[in-house]
Amino acid sequence: MRSWERAAVPSLEAMGHGDGPLPSVHDVRTDARATVPAGPTASMYTCGITPYDATHLGHAFTYLAFDTLTRVWLDAGIEVRTAMNSTDVDDPLLERARRDGVDWRELAERQQQLFRDDMAALRILPPDRWVAVTERIAPIAAGVRRMLDSGDAYRLAAPEGEGATGEDVLFDTTRARRFRVGEGSRTDEAEMVALTREFGGDPDRPGKRSPLDPLLWRAERPGEPAWDSPVGRGRPGWHVECTVIAMEELGAPFTVAAGGRDLRFPHQELQGHHAIALGAPLFSQTRLNAGLVAYAGEKMSKSLGNLVLVSRLLERGARPAALRLALLDHHWRQDWEWRDGELEAAEQRLDRWLAWSATPDDDPSLAESIVPWLRVTLADDLNTPAALQAVDAFIQRAPADEGSLAAIDALLGIDLRSVAAR
Ligand SMILES: [Zn+2]
Repeated sequence: MRSWERAAVPSLEAMGHGDGPLPSVHDVRTDARATVPAGPTASMYTCGITPYDATHLGHAFTYLAFDTLTRVWLDAGIEVRTAMNSTDVDDPLLERARRDGVDWRELAERQQQLFRDDMAALRILPPDRWVAVTERIAPIAAGVRRMLDSGDAYRLAAPEGEGATGEDVLFDTTRARRFRVGEGSRTDEAEMVALTREFGGDPDRPGKRSPLDPLLWRAERPGEPAWDSPVGRGRPGWHVECTVIAMEELGAPFTVAAGGRDLRFPHQELQGHHAIALGAPLFSQTRLNAGLVAYAGEKMSKSLGNLVLVSRLLERGARPAALRLALLDHHWRQDWEWRDGELEAAEQRLDRWLAWSATPDDDPSLAESIVPWLRVTLADDLNTPAALQAVDAFIQRAPADEGSLAAIDALLGIDLRSVAAR
């Protein structure tokens, strides 16, 4: 489906600064630093939104983290390919549509447009391919068929009273090849069952071979959307959707599987197992998790009703560049809490940077450059708070030169030449 407008990214190499360093980032799968990519190209799959409560600060923080990684890669001269999904048919989306008395497709389309607008305003680079699950029903069903044929999946009658005509298909985690389930995310049995329950996994359902077995295909229930397929009429499960879309768009293994920390288990872990069942040697070389954002003492979530929406903040007059700075002031892997004063502090920082950018460098021979400072801090596990501090210190001692302005744009996504003063 249509993505959103791509902000221009200046090339520091073209300005005589050479290529930047490759980043070293914390890989969740090995719990260690990894320098990525190993070669001249990088590919990243990012788990996208379920379009019904777009776009809260938790979403924005996650996509900004991987935007920073993309920018560091581009600066290093890496050829980058990215893909993302939109889970545009899923239980919570359908529930919301039912509650609000709207068609689920309409709700998804409206929310996807809101997401596009928010991402473009924040200058988050769009994925090369943004794919809706409803655009890929046939290949996902083909993947489920393949897992049934190989014995990695099994059929289970839908619970009585749900009105299903066909059978559901579940993934058999007891057969997981090469890696034990939980190994890839270092999660113990009790925690896995609890997380499976939290993320709609139904561990108590009778007849399952393991409580952890996830749904690959949900047979049609009355009143729910369904598609005809070689595994029966129904709709796909969440983990297999991402697996098939990522493998189709990027091939497996690709460089980075990216998502918020709440996706570590079961979602990202099961993607890895599904991919192996579908014949890939490995799903992704590294797995990265962004931290979660809390508000008013709780993780931001629709069920708690404590969402801070990007669109709401922008409507109230926040400058997108200031919001971007407020988010970049937190390390991408840390969980943190949004506090009401953060935006104002970021607006003030942006004003200081703007005042500096308006003071031209009248003697270019004296020019010092922020380029090496930004590169070294961001290559070190995308340390954006340190990068912002480096700019704060730099503007105290040096005039605004073209290279520094371009680096703040290319690496931090803040184009000071286009931001308006308050
Ligand atoms: Zn996903």
